[in-house]
Amino acid sequence: MLLFTPGPTPVPERIRQVMAAPTIHHRTPEFTKIFKETRSMLIELLDMKDAVIFASTGTGAMEACVTNLCKSKALIVNAGKFGERFVKIAKAFDKEVVELQYDWNTAAKKDDVIEAIRQNPDIDAFFIQICESSGGLRHPVEDIAQAIKAIDPKITVVADGITAVGVEPIDTTHIDALITGSQKALMLPPGLAMVGLSSHALAKIGDGVGFYFNMAAELKKQREGTTAYTAATTLIIGLREVLTILLKEIGMDEIYDQTDRRATATRVALEGLGLQIYPQKPANAMTAVYDEDAENIRKILKNRYGVQVAGGQDHLKGKLIRINHMGLIEPYEAAWVVDSMEKALSDLGRIEYRGEANRVFNNIYYFEE
Ligand SMILES: *Cc1c(COP(=O)(O)O)cnc(C)c1O
Repeated sequence: MLLFTPGPTPVPERIRQVMAAPTIHHRTPEFTKIFKETRSMLIELLDMKDAVIFASTGTGAMEACVTNLCKSKALIVNAGKFGERFVKIAKAFDKEVVELQYDWNTAAKKDDVIEAIRQNPDIDAFFIQICESSGGLRHPVEDIAQAIKAIDPKITVVADGITAVGVEPIDTTHIDALITGSQKALMLPPGLAMVGLSSHALAKIGDGVGFYFNMAAELKKQREGTTAYTAATTLIIGLREVLTILLKEIGMDEIYDQTDRRATATRVALEGLGLQIYPQKPANAMTAVYDEDAENIRKILKNRYGVQVAGGQDHLKGKLIRINHMGLIEPYEAAWVVDSMEKALSDLGRIEYRGEANRVFNNIYYFEE
């Protein structure tokens, strides 16, 4: 079965191999060396001043950003399940929330953000997804962040980049906290969450808030090459290997380029079959197709062609097909997915199979600029 869901993504053989070695103790010079190397590569990938790693899923990092970086009122973009999650977290911690809601296919607008800040001068933190994974949408985070800082540089900009870090270049100039997680573009099993932090964020954290997700307590230990509590040693060892492959062996420009070509080739190939791309501004992390018959297509993909893709949630349950582009994916596997989509549509009697999606995919992936 080819796993083509936008998280979890397949864990490459080499990563699984390094994680199969016997466990080492976390309070040892051996582990400290591994941890320091991992953290410095992570900071390079995130392009931030510092970074903190938590043993949790991505949601833990979202929570840490809400508790440590929002002191009075949160402005939150909600264009899907993950934006909604920021709202739920903020409310769970009794924060005042101003919510900007959009359809799941519609990117946030800078003017709406500016207007909300003008009407609520006590907003001190802004939360947004770079890619909102529920609809495969790319928010113009960099633009919005720049506009916010022009109004009030004290407002902390928190960007959830769980399906963007390692997928596409992110301009972090005006971003204060950049969240990522292990099981998406970083091709690891779930269980690690990471936050890149700017100087502004580091100053605002101060003594930190909370206990397990206290960023100040963790940062203090992590700068010394250890963790406040037991480190997720196996996952950290895996992360060091992933970052070595991405940064030192392949190079991020090459990764971004391959991902972009895979995403573009997939979108164009599927549009050529008459399918409808759901988001108005698609992110490169995944292709989301809107189709009334999505469930039958997904079943055929899985049962006849060995391809597992994701569906939609909430009001889009049964209406969406989400195909992953994150991680290191062989182009022939991605071509197999679009070819299987064409076969599935043909099986349903909607079109005649001609191998067209495969042809278009390969043409764009290999030959177009
Ligand atoms: C996957 C994901 C998360 C985190 O989800 P967890 O299940 O807690 O790892 C957060 N934001 C986005 C945009 C995601 O895609």
